[in-house]
Amino acid sequence: MKGKILVTGGTGYIGSHTTVELINAGYEVISMDNLSNSNIEVLDGIEAITGIRPKFYEADCNDEAAVERIFSENPGIVGLIHFAASKAVGESVQKPLLYYRNNLLSLIVMLEAMERHGTKGIVFSSSCTVYGQPEVLPVTENAPVQEALSPYGNTKQINEEILRDAIYAGAPYKAIRLRYFNPIGAHSSALIGELPLGVPQNLIPYLTQTAAGIRQELSVFGDDYNTPDGSCIRDYINVVDLAKAHVIAIERILDEDKQSEPLETFNIGTGRGVSVLELINTFEQVTGVKVPHKIVGRREGDIEQVWANPKHANEVLGWEAKETLADTLKSAWAWQERITKKA
Ligand code: NAD
Repeated sequence: MKGKILVTGGTGYIGSHTTVELINAGYEVISMDNLSNSNIEVLDGIEAITGIRPKFYEADCNDEAAVERIFSENPGIVGLIHFAASKAVGESVQKPLLYYRNNLLSLIVMLEAMERHGTKGIVFSSSCTVYGQPEVLPVTENAPVQEALSPYGNTKQINEEILRDAIYAGAPYKAIRLRYFNPIGAHSSALIGELPLGVPQNLIPYLTQTAAGIRQELSVFGDDYNTPDGSCIRDYINVVDLAKAHVIAIERILDEDKQSEPLETFNIGTGRGVSVLELINTFEQVTGVKVPHKIVGRREGDIEQVWANPKHANEVLGWEAKETLADTLKSAWAWQERITKKA
């Protein structure tokens, strides 16, 4: 065993895939989640893939006593990967205080516990939303952070600042902020994947549910953007590739020789921009399944186009996105077919 890693939001979409990769890499994972946006059965999927069921706590990161208990019952947690957060942009506009409380307080509680227990570092889930609409594409980590368009986006920016300020004030741990582009797809086994509760907020689960006949039609928000086919462009990153970036980041934190700066930031994307219409076409081609869709008006707050320059992560972390878009979309469909059958 390489060491104990505490994963918050461990039964969530990215947390569950990262747990699998951490276990595969030889780490002991302690998983915690308040199950506000995930299901305990995810642990069965993790166990089926890895043969190991991670120790799990149903607990809230804002509950200081519960967090203290987890650290005390598991002495020697060397690293923390902090996924736990509320993440629906639209809901954050309706319920800003819920988002500020959940996403800001949880990080503070976890950092204070790390300090008390001598945890060496944290990998934090940030987002390309911090760049807004970048002037230069592909966007690098040096691009300016722009005013957030939603309370959710703002929590990511403030979280990044909390980490920066804590580290520069001499906190006894290191931090790596990973700015994800658009995570999609599922584990190749189809035993875990994205399992949104209620109506999906993200494109891919909405798309696969439409393809499965659960939703009638997929809305494409705008075809009059300044892009080749008029629809928005994003950088879709395979969730297993993304999960592997976390393992590399935690290894970097734990290896004294590797991370010389106590705070680092990396874009985690493919470096390729794909339009919404191109994504739908590719899905239809690789799965042979039609996705009924219609063009509707632009959605407020949508960025026109963004994709990553992943060079920093490629060169410094030694990480790169490996999965093709075709295989990633196939994995999303295999997962959808499995959960549709189960329902
Ligand atoms: P998710 O909702 O599937 O996972 C988050 C998990 O955290 C859920 O299981 C939820 O129940 C749990 N949680 C929320 N608040 C909690 C709390 N206070 N205490 C304990 N558990 C709590 O989301 P995801 O897509 O896996 O995202 C993980 C992280 O990555 C989030 O921080 C999100 O903001 C960030 N992120 C996601 C995307 C994306 O498109 N999926 C993009 C950029 C950044």
